[in-house]
Amino acid sequence: MKIVDLRSDTVTRPTPAMRDAMMRAELGDDVFGDDPTVNALQERIAAMLGKEAALFVPSGTQGNLVATMSHCQRGDEIVIGQMAHHYRWEAGGAAVLASVQPQPIEHQADGTLSLADIAAAIKPDDSHFARTRLLALENTFGGKALPLTYMADATALARSRGLATHLDGARLFNAAVKLDVAARDIAQHFDSVSVCFSKGLGAPVGSALVGSRELIARAHRWRKMLGGGMRQAGVLAAAALHALDHHIARLADDHRLAQRLADGLQGVPGLSVEPPQTNMVFADVEGERGKGLIEHLKSRGVLATGLYRLRFVTHLDVDAAGIDHAIAAVRQHFVR
Ligand SMILES: *Cc1c(COP(=O)(O)O)cnc(C)c1O
Repeated sequence: MKIVDLRSDTVTRPTPAMRDAMMRAELGDDVFGDDPTVNALQERIAAMLGKEAALFVPSGTQGNLVATMSHCQRGDEIVIGQMAHHYRWEAGGAAVLASVQPQPIEHQADGTLSLADIAAAIKPDDSHFARTRLLALENTFGGKALPLTYMADATALARSRGLATHLDGARLFNAAVKLDVAARDIAQHFDSVSVCFSKGLGAPVGSALVGSRELIARAHRWRKMLGGGMRQAGVLAAAALHALDHHIARLADDHRLAQRLADGLQGVPGLSVEPPQTNMVFADVEGERGKGLIEHLKSRGVLATGLYRLRFVTHLDVDAAGIDHAIAAVRQHFVR
């Protein structure tokens, strides 16, 4: 049985062309700064995002963590979304490893944090309070592309109150494709941005943090401390470079497949599907009707997640036939 794996866009295998690029990569010891392919990737992604410097890190989690550690001191505070990956899904690393207190705030329906909530969360300079130091946003957030005007307004507010700004751009290129802007048009609003090569871009491993030369120099030391110094990492950087060359424009295909899935699930009794903006389809199941759904789908070769809401993610390794198979499998569960 062919598996249609819609759990995440991280499940892709490197394409033959990507493997070929990895095989041919020129390598050196990156802890000595000697890996030409890592250096090329760092220069490339910094330039693409309009920043001075970049650091290749093993994961998006480490990118967000070294960003937190580079912007903040022990006892500082970060204003962040209640469901942001950087807060909710990274095992509490900001608190445990950075000694930074997260101040989570609720998301609006469009995924944004309201300017009033951000302003209210920023503490006065008073010894009772943690020092509010950083505003962290995420784009795309839950598959939603936050508009440029919002990012301009939210970061202007943060700056006016003396905060630094970080964007968790794990799926920054999905946002750029959806908004039809260059990725740097989004990145320009932030002091630092992390991006994942291992999500929709289809690389097996790796993320980057971009920012000023000074910030990235600090991040470099934190990466070493966290065990993120890698040696002949060019074999991975080559995959990321290949992805930047070949896998950005095609994200629009993933977005179209997500729309195809959402369309196919319209009108299923007991299932309410949120119109997708990028490569994720979320659906809410009425009452007990979702019971056994994930297992039923699995028995039909369709993998999905359902921790908070039912979620399907499209990517490089699914096609229209796979999506149609998934639609049929979901429908079968609800009509029996
Ligand atoms: C996946 C993800 C990360 C972290 O990436 P890992 O490489 O899995 O550590 C961070 N932020 C968002 C929004 C993500 O989706």
